[in-house]
Amino acid sequence: MPTQAAKDRVLNFTEVALGYTEEDALLESARCLTCKKEECREGCPVDIDIPGFIKKIKARDYLGAVQKIKETSSLPAICGRVCPQESQCEQFCVRGKKGEAVSIGRLERFVSDYEREQGAVNTPEIAHPNGIKVAIVGTGPGGLTCAGELARLGYSVTMYEALHVAGGVLMYGIPEFRLPKDIVQADIDNVRKLGVDIQTNVIIGRTMMVDELFAMDYKAIFIGTGAGLPNFMGIPGENLNGVYSANEFLTRVNLMKGYLFPEYLTPVRIGKRVAILGAGNVAMDSARCAKRLGAEEVYIVYRRSEKEMPARAEEVDHAHEEGIHFRLLTQPIEIKGDENNWVKELICAQCELGEPDASGRRSPINIPGSEFSLPMDTVVVAIGQSPNPLIQTTTKGLATGKNGTIVADPDGRTTRPAIFAGGDIVTGAATVILAMGAGRKAAAAMDKYLQQAQVK
Ligand code: SF4
Repeated sequence: MPTQAAKDRVLNFTEVALGYTEEDALLESARCLTCKKEECREGCPVDIDIPGFIKKIKARDYLGAVQKIKETSSLPAICGRVCPQESQCEQFCVRGKKGEAVSIGRLERFVSDYEREQGAVNTPEIAHPNGIKVAIVGTGPGGLTCAGELARLGYSVTMYEALHVAGGVLMYGIPEFRLPKDIVQADIDNVRKLGVDIQTNVIIGRTMMVDELFAMDYKAIFIGTGAGLPNFMGIPGENLNGVYSANEFLTRVNLMKGYLFPEYLTPVRIGKRVAILGAGNVAMDSARCAKRLGAEEVYIVYRRSEKEMPARAEEVDHAHEEGIHFRLLTQPIEIKGDENNWVKELICAQCELGEPDASGRRSPINIPGSEFSLPMDTVVVAIGQSPNPLIQTTTKGLATGKNGTIVADPDGRTTRPAIFAGGDIVTGAATVILAMGAGRKAAAAMDKYLQQAQVK
Protein backbone atom coordinates (compact mmCIF):
# COMPACT_ATOMS: atom_id res chain seq x y z
CA MET A 1 0.00 0.00 0.00
CA PRO A 2 1.55 3.34 -0.95
CA THR A 3 1.80 5.79 1.95
CA GLN A 4 2.76 9.42 2.52
CA ALA A 5 6.50 9.66 3.26
CA ALA A 6 7.14 9.68 7.02
CA LYS A 7 8.96 13.05 6.90
CA ASP A 8 5.91 14.66 5.27
CA ARG A 9 3.14 12.95 7.18
CA VAL A 10 4.42 13.92 10.64
CA LEU A 11 3.63 17.49 9.59
CA ASN A 12 -0.02 16.85 8.74
CA PHE A 13 -3.11 14.93 9.83
CA THR A 14 -4.15 13.71 6.39
CA GLU A 15 -4.42 10.00 5.71
CA VAL A 16 -1.16 8.05 5.84
CA ALA A 17 -2.13 5.13 3.60
CA LEU A 18 -2.96 6.33 0.11
CA GLY A 19 -4.95 3.32 -1.09
CA TYR A 20 -4.63 1.04 -4.08
CA THR A 21 -4.74 2.27 -7.64
CA GLU A 22 -6.96 0.29 -10.01
CA GLU A 23 -3.87 -1.43 -11.34
CA ASP A 24 -2.77 -2.42 -7.80
CA ALA A 25 -6.25 -3.75 -7.05
CA LEU A 26 -6.34 -5.83 -10.22
CA LEU A 27 -2.90 -7.26 -9.55
CA GLU A 28 -3.75 -8.12 -5.96
CA SER A 29 -7.14 -9.61 -6.80
CA ALA A 30 -5.46 -11.84 -9.38
CA ARG A 31 -3.62 -13.54 -6.50
CA CYS A 32 -6.92 -14.80 -5.05
CA LEU A 33 -7.57 -18.45 -5.85
CA THR A 34 -11.38 -18.19 -5.39
CA CYS A 35 -11.13 -21.17 -3.03
CA LYS A 36 -14.22 -23.33 -2.68
CA LYS A 37 -13.57 -23.86 1.02
CA GLU A 38 -13.63 -20.06 1.70
CA GLU A 39 -11.29 -20.23 4.70
CA CYS A 40 -10.86 -16.45 4.63
CA ARG A 41 -14.60 -15.98 5.04
CA GLU A 42 -14.61 -18.10 8.19
CA GLY A 43 -12.24 -15.56 9.74
CA CYS A 44 -14.58 -12.63 9.06
CA PRO A 45 -16.78 -11.67 12.04
CA VAL A 46 -19.50 -10.37 9.67
CA ASP A 47 -19.24 -13.22 7.16
CA ILE A 48 -18.37 -11.17 4.06
CA ASP A 49 -18.38 -13.24 0.86
CA ILE A 50 -14.69 -12.55 0.33
CA PRO A 51 -14.01 -14.79 -2.69
CA GLY A 52 -17.23 -13.43 -4.21
CA PHE A 53 -16.28 -9.76 -3.94
CA ILE A 54 -12.71 -10.38 -5.10
CA LYS A 55 -14.04 -12.25 -8.13
CA LYS A 56 -16.01 -9.16 -9.06
CA ILE A 57 -12.86 -7.02 -8.78
CA LYS A 58 -11.10 -9.41 -11.17
CA ALA A 59 -13.97 -8.78 -13.59
CA ARG A 60 -13.54 -5.01 -13.04
CA ASP A 61 -17.05 -4.84 -11.59
CA TYR A 62 -16.07 -2.66 -8.64
CA LEU A 63 -19.59 -1.52 -7.80
CA GLY A 64 -20.72 -5.14 -7.89
CA ALA A 65 -17.87 -5.96 -5.50
CA VAL A 66 -18.93 -3.37 -2.98
CA GLN A 67 -22.56 -4.51 -3.19
CA LYS A 68 -21.38 -8.02 -2.39
CA ILE A 69 -19.58 -6.72 0.71
CA LYS A 70 -22.63 -4.72 1.73
CA GLU A 71 -24.77 -7.85 1.81
CA THR A 72 -23.32 -8.38 5.29
CA SER A 73 -21.28 -5.29 6.20
CA SER A 74 -22.61 -1.75 6.31
CA LEU A 75 -19.30 0.05 6.92
CA PRO A 76 -16.79 -1.25 4.33
CA ALA A 77 -14.74 1.93 3.91
CA ILE A 78 -14.15 1.95 7.67
CA CYS A 79 -13.38 -1.77 7.97
CA GLY A 80 -11.04 -1.62 4.98
CA ARG A 81 -8.99 0.86 6.98
CA VAL A 82 -9.08 -0.17 10.62
CA CYS A 83 -9.89 -3.89 10.79
CA PRO A 84 -7.03 -6.10 11.99
CA GLN A 85 -7.33 -8.32 8.89
CA GLU A 86 -4.01 -9.99 9.64
CA SER A 87 -5.59 -11.70 12.65
CA GLN A 88 -8.96 -12.32 10.98
CA CYS A 89 -9.72 -13.10 7.30
CA GLU A 90 -6.14 -12.75 6.07
CA GLN A 91 -4.88 -15.05 8.80
CA PHE A 92 -6.87 -17.87 7.21
CA CYS A 93 -6.09 -17.07 3.57
CA VAL A 94 -4.49 -20.12 1.94
CA ARG A 95 -2.07 -17.83 0.10
CA GLY A 96 -0.63 -16.96 3.50
CA LYS A 97 0.49 -20.54 4.14
CA LYS A 98 3.29 -20.28 1.62
CA GLY A 99 3.83 -16.56 1.30
CA GLU A 100 1.69 -13.49 1.71
CA ALA A 101 -2.05 -13.60 2.26
CA VAL A 102 -4.23 -11.77 -0.24
CA SER A 103 -4.64 -8.17 1.00
CA ILE A 104 -8.38 -8.47 1.56
CA GLY A 105 -8.69 -5.29 3.61
CA ARG A 106 -6.94 -3.16 1.01
CA LEU A 107 -9.21 -4.53 -1.71
CA GLU A 108 -12.24 -3.79 0.46
CA ARG A 109 -11.03 -0.24 0.91
CA PHE A 110 -10.40 0.16 -2.82
CA VAL A 111 -13.93 -0.79 -3.89
CA SER A 112 -15.68 1.20 -1.16
CA ASP A 113 -13.61 4.30 -2.01
CA TYR A 114 -14.35 3.72 -5.70
CA GLU A 115 -18.08 3.67 -4.98
CA ARG A 116 -17.94 6.88 -2.95
CA GLU A 117 -15.69 8.71 -5.41
CA GLN A 118 -18.00 7.75 -8.29
CA GLY A 119 -20.97 9.08 -6.31
CA ALA A 120 -22.53 5.69 -6.86
CA VAL A 121 -23.52 4.79 -3.29
CA ASN A 122 -26.86 2.97 -3.39
CA THR A 123 -29.33 2.86 -0.54
CA PRO A 124 -30.19 -0.80 -0.01
CA GLU A 125 -33.75 -1.98 -0.34
CA ILE A 126 -35.88 -1.25 2.71
CA ALA A 127 -38.81 -3.43 3.75
CA HIS A 128 -42.26 -1.88 4.13
CA PRO A 129 -42.42 0.04 7.46
CA ASN A 130 -43.82 -2.19 10.20
CA GLY A 131 -44.50 0.66 12.65
CA ILE A 132 -42.45 -0.93 15.45
CA LYS A 133 -40.14 1.49 17.28
CA VAL A 134 -36.67 0.40 18.41
CA ALA A 135 -33.97 2.44 20.14
CA ILE A 136 -30.21 2.11 19.77
CA VAL A 137 -28.06 3.58 22.51
CA GLY A 138 -24.62 4.56 21.21
CA THR A 139 -23.70 5.40 17.62
CA GLY A 140 -20.40 3.55 17.31
CA PRO A 141 -19.83 0.65 14.90
CA GLY A 142 -22.06 -1.82 16.79
CA GLY A 143 -24.97 0.62 17.06
CA LEU A 144 -24.69 1.81 13.45
CA THR A 145 -24.67 -1.76 12.17
CA CYS A 146 -27.62 -2.79 14.33
CA ALA A 147 -29.55 0.34 13.31
CA GLY A 148 -28.87 -0.23 9.60
CA GLU A 149 -29.99 -3.87 9.76
CA LEU A 150 -33.21 -3.08 11.64
CA ALA A 151 -34.06 -0.13 9.39
CA ARG A 152 -33.72 -2.38 6.35
CA LEU A 153 -36.17 -4.79 7.96
CA GLY A 154 -38.75 -2.00 8.22
CA TYR A 155 -38.37 -0.96 11.86
CA SER A 156 -38.59 2.66 12.97
CA VAL A 157 -35.12 3.20 14.44
CA THR A 158 -33.91 6.02 16.70
CA MET A 159 -30.29 6.23 17.81
CA TYR A 160 -29.16 8.11 20.91
CA GLU A 161 -25.66 9.60 21.13
CA ALA A 162 -24.18 11.26 24.21
CA LEU A 163 -21.77 13.48 22.24
CA HIS A 164 -22.63 16.21 19.76
CA VAL A 165 -21.67 14.08 16.75
CA ALA A 166 -22.48 10.49 15.90
CA GLY A 167 -19.87 7.79 15.30
CA GLY A 168 -18.58 6.99 18.79
CA VAL A 169 -15.00 5.78 18.83
CA LEU A 170 -14.79 6.14 15.04
CA MET A 171 -15.10 9.90 15.54
CA TYR A 172 -13.54 10.62 18.92
CA GLY A 173 -10.95 7.86 19.12
CA ILE A 174 -9.31 6.97 15.82
CA PRO A 175 -7.25 9.84 14.37
CA GLU A 176 -7.94 11.52 11.05
CA PHE A 177 -4.67 10.25 9.56
CA ARG A 178 -5.82 6.66 10.04
CA LEU A 179 -9.55 7.07 9.46
CA PRO A 180 -10.64 10.32 7.78
CA LYS A 181 -13.79 11.69 9.39
CA ASP A 182 -15.50 12.48 6.08
CA ILE A 183 -15.43 8.73 5.39
CA VAL A 184 -17.04 7.96 8.75
CA GLN A 185 -19.57 10.73 8.15
CA ALA A 186 -20.43 9.29 4.73
CA ASP A 187 -21.19 5.91 6.33
CA ILE A 188 -23.29 7.57 9.05
CA ASP A 189 -25.19 9.48 6.34
CA ASN A 190 -25.86 6.18 4.59
CA VAL A 191 -27.43 4.81 7.76
CA ARG A 192 -29.54 8.00 8.00
CA LYS A 193 -30.67 7.47 4.42
CA LEU A 194 -32.26 4.22 5.57
CA GLY A 195 -34.58 6.37 7.66
CA VAL A 196 -32.68 6.09 10.96
CA ASP A 197 -33.15 9.10 13.24
CA ILE A 198 -30.01 10.08 15.20
CA GLN A 199 -30.48 12.15 18.35
CA THR A 200 -27.21 13.64 19.61
CA ASN A 201 -26.45 15.21 23.02
CA VAL A 202 -28.66 12.69 24.84
CA ILE A 203 -26.98 10.70 27.59
CA ILE A 204 -29.04 7.60 28.28
CA GLY A 205 -28.63 6.95 31.99
CA ARG A 206 -28.58 10.69 32.74
CA THR A 207 -30.68 12.82 30.35
CA MET A 208 -33.08 9.93 29.98
CA MET A 209 -33.28 6.48 31.53
CA VAL A 210 -33.64 3.19 29.68
CA ASP A 211 -37.09 2.66 31.23
CA GLU A 212 -38.20 6.04 29.91
CA LEU A 213 -37.39 4.78 26.43
CA PHE A 214 -39.77 1.88 26.96
CA ALA A 215 -42.39 4.38 28.17
CA MET A 216 -41.89 6.17 24.83
CA ASP A 217 -43.12 2.98 23.14
CA TYR A 218 -39.77 1.61 22.02
CA LYS A 219 -40.37 -2.13 21.93
CA ALA A 220 -36.71 -3.17 22.09
CA ILE A 221 -33.43 -1.47 22.88
CA PHE A 222 -29.87 -2.21 21.77
CA ILE A 223 -27.08 -0.95 24.00
CA GLY A 224 -23.79 -0.34 22.24
CA THR A 225 -22.15 2.27 24.42
CA GLY A 226 -18.65 0.89 24.05
CA ALA A 227 -15.68 1.06 26.37
CA GLY A 228 -15.08 4.71 27.07
CA LEU A 229 -13.98 4.60 30.70
CA PRO A 230 -10.21 5.05 30.80
CA ASN A 231 -8.05 2.84 32.98
CA PHE A 232 -5.26 4.42 35.00
CA MET A 233 -2.07 2.95 36.39
CA GLY A 234 -2.62 3.94 40.00
CA ILE A 235 0.87 5.42 40.33
CA PRO A 236 1.67 8.67 42.19
CA GLY A 237 1.33 11.80 40.08
CA GLU A 238 -1.51 10.77 37.76
CA ASN A 239 -3.51 13.81 38.90
CA LEU A 240 -0.83 16.31 37.82
CA ASN A 241 -1.51 18.89 35.12
CA GLY A 242 -0.31 17.54 31.80
CA VAL A 243 -1.44 13.97 32.44
CA TYR A 244 -4.21 12.83 30.09
CA SER A 245 -6.05 9.59 29.65
CA ALA A 246 -5.68 8.51 26.02
CA ASN A 247 -9.47 8.92 25.72
CA GLU A 248 -9.34 12.55 26.72
CA PHE A 249 -6.24 13.25 24.65
CA LEU A 250 -7.62 11.66 21.47
CA THR A 251 -11.04 13.27 22.00
CA ARG A 252 -9.40 16.69 22.29
CA VAL A 253 -7.35 16.08 19.16
CA ASN A 254 -9.98 14.35 16.98
CA LEU A 255 -13.42 15.39 18.06
CA MET A 256 -12.52 18.87 19.32
CA LYS A 257 -10.12 19.35 16.42
CA GLY A 258 -7.21 20.36 18.65
CA TYR A 259 -4.90 19.90 15.68
CA LEU A 260 -6.69 22.65 13.77
CA PHE A 261 -5.87 25.44 16.25
CA PRO A 262 -6.35 28.41 15.71
CA GLU A 263 -9.15 27.59 13.28
CA TYR A 264 -10.69 25.71 16.21
CA LEU A 265 -10.12 27.42 19.55
CA THR A 266 -9.41 24.15 21.36
CA PRO A 267 -5.63 23.71 21.41
CA VAL A 268 -3.98 20.79 23.19
CA ARG A 269 -1.01 21.74 25.38
CA ILE A 270 1.70 19.26 24.62
CA GLY A 271 5.19 20.64 25.36
CA LYS A 272 8.38 19.17 23.94
CA ARG A 273 8.54 15.72 25.51
CA VAL A 274 5.60 13.36 25.64
CA ALA A 275 5.38 9.88 27.15
CA ILE A 276 2.64 7.48 26.16
CA LEU A 277 2.17 4.71 28.71
CA GLY A 278 1.06 1.51 26.96
CA ALA A 279 1.63 -0.13 23.58
CA GLY A 280 -1.74 -0.93 22.03
CA ASN A 281 -3.30 0.73 18.98
CA VAL A 282 -4.64 3.56 21.13
CA ALA A 283 -1.12 4.19 22.43
CA MET A 284 0.28 4.27 18.86
CA ASP A 285 -2.49 6.68 17.82
CA SER A 286 -1.72 8.92 20.79
CA ALA A 287 2.02 8.90 20.09
CA ARG A 288 1.56 9.72 16.42
CA CYS A 289 -0.90 12.52 17.26
CA ALA A 290 1.57 13.98 19.76
CA LYS A 291 4.27 13.97 17.09
CA ARG A 292 1.99 15.74 14.62
CA LEU A 293 1.04 18.32 17.25
CA GLY A 294 4.70 19.33 17.35
CA ALA A 295 6.27 17.37 20.24
CA GLU A 296 10.02 17.02 19.71
CA GLU A 297 10.41 13.70 21.51
CA VAL A 298 7.63 11.16 21.88
CA TYR A 299 8.14 7.95 23.83
CA ILE A 300 6.14 4.75 23.98
CA VAL A 301 6.83 3.46 27.48
CA TYR A 302 6.02 -0.24 27.79
CA ARG A 303 6.88 -2.77 30.43
CA ARG A 304 7.24 -5.75 28.09
CA SER A 305 9.19 -6.23 24.86
CA GLU A 306 8.14 -5.40 21.29
CA LYS A 307 7.04 -9.01 20.79
CA GLU A 308 4.29 -8.65 23.40
CA MET A 309 2.99 -5.27 22.22
CA PRO A 310 -0.76 -5.49 21.57
CA ALA A 311 -0.78 -2.92 18.72
CA ARG A 312 -1.08 -4.04 15.08
CA ALA A 313 2.34 -4.55 13.49
CA GLU A 314 1.46 -2.00 10.80
CA GLU A 315 0.77 0.68 13.41
CA VAL A 316 4.02 -0.09 15.22
CA ASP A 317 5.95 0.13 11.93
CA HIS A 318 4.34 3.47 11.12
CA ALA A 319 5.23 4.77 14.58
CA HIS A 320 8.86 3.67 14.13
CA GLU A 321 9.03 5.34 10.72
CA GLU A 322 7.69 8.57 12.22
CA GLY A 323 10.48 8.71 14.79
CA ILE A 324 8.57 7.62 17.90
CA HIS A 325 11.04 6.36 20.54
CA PHE A 326 10.30 3.01 22.15
CA ARG A 327 11.33 2.59 25.80
CA LEU A 328 10.64 -1.10 26.21
CA LEU A 329 10.97 -3.26 29.32
CA THR A 330 10.28 -0.03 31.17
CA GLN A 331 7.75 0.29 33.99
CA PRO A 332 6.50 3.79 34.90
CA ILE A 333 6.43 4.06 38.68
CA GLU A 334 5.81 7.76 39.40
CA ILE A 335 5.09 11.05 37.63
CA LYS A 336 6.71 14.04 39.32
CA GLY A 337 5.57 17.63 38.96
CA ASP A 338 7.04 21.14 39.27
CA GLU A 339 6.05 23.76 41.89
CA ASN A 340 2.87 24.52 39.89
CA ASN A 341 1.89 20.86 39.65
CA TRP A 342 2.69 20.48 35.97
CA VAL A 343 4.36 17.28 34.81
CA LYS A 344 8.15 17.52 35.01
CA GLU A 345 9.53 14.00 34.95
CA LEU A 346 8.56 10.37 34.63
CA ILE A 347 10.25 7.94 36.99
CA CYS A 348 10.62 4.44 35.59
CA ALA A 349 12.19 1.11 36.49
CA GLN A 350 13.87 -1.25 34.09
CA CYS A 351 12.17 -4.65 33.79
CA GLU A 352 13.01 -8.16 32.76
CA LEU A 353 10.51 -10.77 31.64
CA GLY A 354 9.56 -13.64 33.92
CA GLU A 355 7.07 -16.48 33.54
CA PRO A 356 3.90 -16.09 31.45
CA ASP A 357 0.89 -14.67 33.33
CA ALA A 358 -2.86 -15.34 32.84
CA SER A 359 -2.75 -13.48 29.48
CA GLY A 360 -0.12 -15.95 28.25
CA ARG A 361 2.45 -13.17 27.94
CA ARG A 362 5.63 -13.16 29.99
CA SER A 363 5.24 -10.93 33.05
CA PRO A 364 7.50 -7.97 33.58
CA ILE A 365 9.55 -7.90 36.78
CA ASN A 366 11.12 -4.66 37.98
CA ILE A 367 14.88 -4.90 38.39
CA PRO A 368 15.80 -3.60 41.88
CA GLY A 369 17.88 -0.40 41.82
CA SER A 370 17.24 0.22 38.12
CA GLU A 371 15.07 3.34 38.59
CA PHE A 372 15.76 6.29 36.31
CA SER A 373 14.09 9.56 35.36
CA LEU A 374 12.94 10.89 31.98
CA PRO A 375 12.29 14.64 31.73
CA MET A 376 8.72 14.99 30.46
CA ASP A 377 6.09 17.67 29.74
CA THR A 378 3.07 15.50 29.01
CA VAL A 379 2.07 11.97 29.96
CA VAL A 380 -0.75 10.09 28.19
CA VAL A 381 -2.04 6.98 29.93
CA ALA A 382 -3.07 4.46 27.26
CA ILE A 383 -3.38 1.18 29.15
CA GLY A 384 -6.91 0.30 28.09
CA GLN A 385 -10.52 1.24 28.64
CA SER A 386 -13.39 -0.31 30.55
CA PRO A 387 -17.08 -0.31 29.61
CA ASN A 388 -19.07 2.86 30.18
CA PRO A 389 -20.85 2.14 33.50
CA LEU A 390 -23.78 4.54 33.23
CA ILE A 391 -26.50 2.27 31.87
CA GLN A 392 -25.63 -0.75 34.01
CA THR A 393 -25.77 1.35 37.15
CA THR A 394 -29.07 3.06 36.30
CA THR A 395 -31.06 0.16 34.80
CA LYS A 396 -32.59 -2.53 36.99
CA GLY A 397 -32.30 -6.17 36.00
CA LEU A 398 -29.21 -5.94 33.82
CA ALA A 399 -26.61 -8.44 35.00
CA THR A 400 -23.02 -7.27 34.80
CA GLY A 401 -19.80 -9.20 34.43
CA LYS A 402 -16.10 -8.67 34.85
CA ASN A 403 -15.04 -5.00 34.77
CA GLY A 404 -18.68 -3.86 34.55
CA THR A 405 -19.50 -5.39 31.16
CA ILE A 406 -23.17 -6.12 30.43
CA VAL A 407 -23.84 -9.85 30.41
CA ALA A 408 -25.33 -10.94 27.07
CA ASP A 409 -25.54 -14.20 25.13
CA PRO A 410 -23.80 -14.56 21.73
CA ASP A 411 -26.90 -13.05 20.05
CA GLY A 412 -26.90 -10.03 22.33
CA ARG A 413 -29.78 -11.00 24.65
CA THR A 414 -29.22 -9.52 28.10
CA THR A 415 -30.82 -10.66 31.33
CA ARG A 416 -33.73 -8.27 30.71
CA PRO A 417 -36.29 -9.03 28.03
CA ALA A 418 -36.32 -6.55 25.15
CA ILE A 419 -32.85 -5.22 26.04
CA PHE A 420 -30.00 -6.36 23.82
CA ALA A 421 -26.34 -5.36 23.94
CA GLY A 422 -23.19 -5.86 21.92
CA GLY A 423 -19.69 -4.65 21.18
CA ASP A 424 -17.20 -3.39 23.77
CA ILE A 425 -19.91 -2.94 26.42
CA VAL A 426 -20.24 -6.76 26.43
CA THR A 427 -16.74 -7.93 25.52
CA GLY A 428 -14.58 -5.14 26.95
CA ALA A 429 -12.46 -3.07 24.57
CA ALA A 430 -12.10 -5.01 21.28
CA THR A 431 -12.26 -4.14 17.59
CA VAL A 432 -14.58 -2.24 15.25
CA ILE A 433 -15.42 -5.35 13.25
CA LEU A 434 -16.27 -7.43 16.32
CA ALA A 435 -18.64 -4.67 17.45
CA MET A 436 -20.19 -4.67 13.98
CA GLY A 437 -20.59 -8.45 14.09
CA ALA A 438 -22.29 -8.14 17.48
CA GLY A 439 -24.59 -5.39 16.17
CA ARG A 440 -25.60 -7.57 13.25
CA LYS A 441 -26.32 -10.63 15.39
CA ALA A 442 -28.28 -8.53 17.88
CA ALA A 443 -30.39 -7.04 15.09
CA ALA A 444 -31.38 -10.55 13.97
CA ALA A 445 -32.19 -11.55 17.56
CA MET A 446 -34.21 -8.34 18.09
CA ASP A 447 -36.16 -8.99 14.91
CA LYS A 448 -36.94 -12.53 16.05
CA TYR A 449 -37.97 -11.32 19.50
CA LEU A 450 -40.18 -8.54 18.13
CA GLN A 451 -41.84 -10.75 15.56
CA GLN A 452 -42.63 -13.34 18.23
CA ALA A 453 -43.96 -10.60 20.51
CA GLN A 454 -46.23 -9.47 17.64
CA VAL A 455 -47.61 -12.97 17.19
CA LYS A 456 -48.44 -13.17 20.91
S1 SF4 B 1 -8.54 -17.91 1.21
FE1 SF4 B 1 -7.32 -16.28 0.17
S2 SF4 B 1 -7.03 -17.09 -1.87
FE2 SF4 B 1 -8.71 -18.30 -1.02
S3 SF4 B 1 -10.60 -17.21 -1.59
FE3 SF4 B 1 -9.98 -16.36 0.38
S4 SF4 B 1 -8.73 -14.54 -0.17
FE4 SF4 B 1 -8.87 -15.80 -2.02
